[in-house]
Amino acid sequence: MIKVGLISLGCAKNLVDSEIMAGHLQKAGMQMTADTAAADVVIVNTCSFLNAAKEESIQTILEAHEERGMRKRRREQKLIVAGCMSQRFASELPEALPEVDAFIGLDQVTTVADVIRDLYAREQRKTPAPETIVAEKSTYIPDYDTPRFRLTPRHFAYLKIAEGCNHPCSFCIIPKIRGRHRSRTIASVVREARQLVAEGVREINLISQDTTYFGMDRWEERPNPRTPVDSSRGESLTALLRELNAIEGDFWIRILYTHPAHWSSELIETIAACEKVARYVDMPLQHISDRMLASMRRETSSQYIRDLIAEIRAGIPDIALRTTFIVGAPGETEDDHQELLEFIRETRFERLGVFEYSREEGTRAAKFDGQVPDTVKSRRWHEAMRLQRDIAAEISASMVGRRVRALVDEPGIARGQADAPDIDGRIYVPDTLPVGEFVELEITGAHGYDLLAGVEPEDLEDFRDLEIAQ
Ligand code: SF4
Repeated sequence: MIKVGLISLGCAKNLVDSEIMAGHLQKAGMQMTADTAAADVVIVNTCSFLNAAKEESIQTILEAHEERGMRKRRREQKLIVAGCMSQRFASELPEALPEVDAFIGLDQVTTVADVIRDLYAREQRKTPAPETIVAEKSTYIPDYDTPRFRLTPRHFAYLKIAEGCNHPCSFCIIPKIRGRHRSRTIASVVREARQLVAEGVREINLISQDTTYFGMDRWEERPNPRTPVDSSRGESLTALLRELNAIEGDFWIRILYTHPAHWSSELIETIAACEKVARYVDMPLQHISDRMLASMRRETSSQYIRDLIAEIRAGIPDIALRTTFIVGAPGETEDDHQELLEFIRETRFERLGVFEYSREEGTRAAKFDGQVPDTVKSRRWHEAMRLQRDIAAEISASMVGRRVRALVDEPGIARGQADAPDIDGRIYVPDTLPVGEFVELEITGAHGYDLLAGVEPEDLEDFRDLEIAQ
């Protein structure tokens, strides 16, 4: 039996692709192994969103290759590279990384077993590697019955409701890699959600490149993206949330990756009315200065964003807002940066990520004048992160004494509605609480981004050092 090891890099969307590959490999009679040293085939599912992710992907591939050279048993091991980097650089990679046996694209996640069989057949025919099987444009989207072997803990899952992106953000390469937006149907998503709940999943994380655009790609063209959403015209996130909320069982639905341009009053009312939808919103804003929003082609304005946040906060009590900003994008002046800091200061996001702009080949912004020096980007990043560290500490301190419902992720660590898995903070709890179950907690302490419930900092061996570099 062929044993396959899979190394999954990047975001949750890539993880779902890895799960689909693992599901198809098992269906084809192959065995997944967590021990890559014992594998006949190693697949590296790469990320290529930013330069740093690309470097990590290349490093991982080279390490996998080096390891097989060091062990006799592994010299025969096959090395396959999949995912975003393979899709993005399909024509350059075979020459740059000749040690790889095959490169496959995003749409080959369901045929990876055939690729492996073909590699063995080619070996017998002594056909030279590497092989490249990458469709020019990615169009694949999974369905409820797509074979999938979940790589997350039993109690939470990612559910990909759409793939691709139709937005024109000038700094982003994703639409070129992942293709045009295509949504699954509500029926397909609901069927998969039912299966997940039946398997014991307590938290379903809805993911895509732009979750708020769900269903709309099949509508007639709207005059512009900010035209109010009317879900009677077709399938939409609001209709999906209502159907998911009606599934019986004790579980949370978390919405990740919403684009601000597609929010609507109806969506706010729906989240408020659906008790299973976590009081958490992930809405990457990227900037607040009108100049920067225009050059980043974010299809929103400063006033629109401010009004939307006010409406979300008023409409959904106790909502935790998560966003991300990019500092140092081309043309960003000191005034733009100060405007961003002031916005962070006054909005007090419960959760915030800041990225330094990465000049990505193939994007519009890479060709813009006014590229910001690395030292300036780094300084702006530190300023934004320092500011948020203080805000986050105050928000955490304000939680002390409150009661929260939380999901126990592992012995001694739980997570509330305000924290997405692998992204946000955690709640340290006694290690006797049952993993994978909901518990009611009283918050007894706070440390940076994290909370404590019934434990003291000195009792914790694995207490995260949350100090941010100065
Ligand atoms: S919305 Fe913009 S940043 Fe997000 S994936 Fe689409 S193009 Fe990229």
